[in-house]
Amino acid sequence: MTANGAVDKFRELFETRDAIAAEWKNRGKKTIGCISIYTPEEVIYAAESLPVGILGGTKSFAKANVYLPSFSCSFICGFLEKLLENEYRYLDLVTLPSLCDSIWGFYSIWKQISSNPEIYLLHYPSKRSGEAIKYFTKEVEKFKNFLEKFTGKEISKKALEIAVDVYNENRRLLKRLYMLRKSESPPIFGFEALEVVLSSMTTPKTLHNELLKELLTDLAARQEYPEGEVRLLISGHILDNTDILRVVEGAGGLVVADDLDSGSRYFWSLVENTHNPIENVSQRYLNLPSPYGPNVKGRIKHLTDMIKEFNVEGVVFLTRRFCDPYLFDHPILEQVLKQLGVPFLHLEHAYPLAKASLRTRVEAFIEMLR
Ligand code: SF4
Repeated sequence: MTANGAVDKFRELFETRDAIAAEWKNRGKKTIGCISIYTPEEVIYAAESLPVGILGGTKSFAKANVYLPSFSCSFICGFLEKLLENEYRYLDLVTLPSLCDSIWGFYSIWKQISSNPEIYLLHYPSKRSGEAIKYFTKEVEKFKNFLEKFTGKEISKKALEIAVDVYNENRRLLKRLYMLRKSESPPIFGFEALEVVLSSMTTPKTLHNELLKELLTDLAARQEYPEGEVRLLISGHILDNTDILRVVEGAGGLVVADDLDSGSRYFWSLVENTHNPIENVSQRYLNLPSPYGPNVKGRIKHLTDMIKEFNVEGVVFLTRRFCDPYLFDHPILEQVLKQLGVPFLHLEHAYPLAKASLRTRVEAFIEMLR
């Protein structure tokens, strides 16, 4: 397979994610939707079920607007709309970590209006103390017990250890792919790298690992390298699709790194595979550099490390309208970049995407960086 063909394979996986999950369900296995990247997927994998990363992004919120207040974020509105449109009919269960008011709001509404799919709220602490880790470990243990009943599969320590190995392998392979982007001429566009990570969030991991190995081999032989004049980093939450990155790269930027839930944050840190897999998994997920902790230090470190390592010339911050956790962090992150002298652009967006105005602002930013 040529490098282009290998990259296309991930696009196909991403675009056919609903069919892949539906087929999984038809084989008599459970499919479990994960809102955000803070649900330990290893536990789901160990229950022989398929974790499916939830994405929002629809053209209209007509049905969701009946239930959600007008200040709900577009991610949750989009997800509820898709549920009400029956687009996620293959999901048996949805797990939500208690990260923000929009998620709490969605949880209480869905509990009242439907039990198909069922939903499970995973309490995610806002502290990072020893007590918080103990608390979250108990929460993950409870989640494991719930899943055993829900799926009818016992989750053994051995099964968890295997899950950790499979997930860590996926993380290492994705990191190797990102490392290629440090080069002066990265062999992959930012929007293609996003397709690879998004497909990892929805595809059975063993299949994804095999395809990633092929991709890493084939990229070395890629003939046409992406062209872009300015090396950029994208910082924000989950991108539901590649539209924004295509706008940025169509305007002359080359996205070489990111600080996204649907990007580096999804795979950058590994789970230790030592004595107690539940404890190790809990620690890893609680220590992600997220906006849901007691302070922004973890995010600052991840962002500034990426800027330095990937030789980034400018940062594009993407925040969703009404997404409080990210909007609260944003002024501090801007301040840090000002002190470092790294130019940035802040795009607050909602769906449907106003592509023309986004393009104008990105073009002006890239022109300034040139
Ligand atoms: S973190 Fe932000 S985008 Fe995600 S569900 Fe909460 S408010 Fe919405």
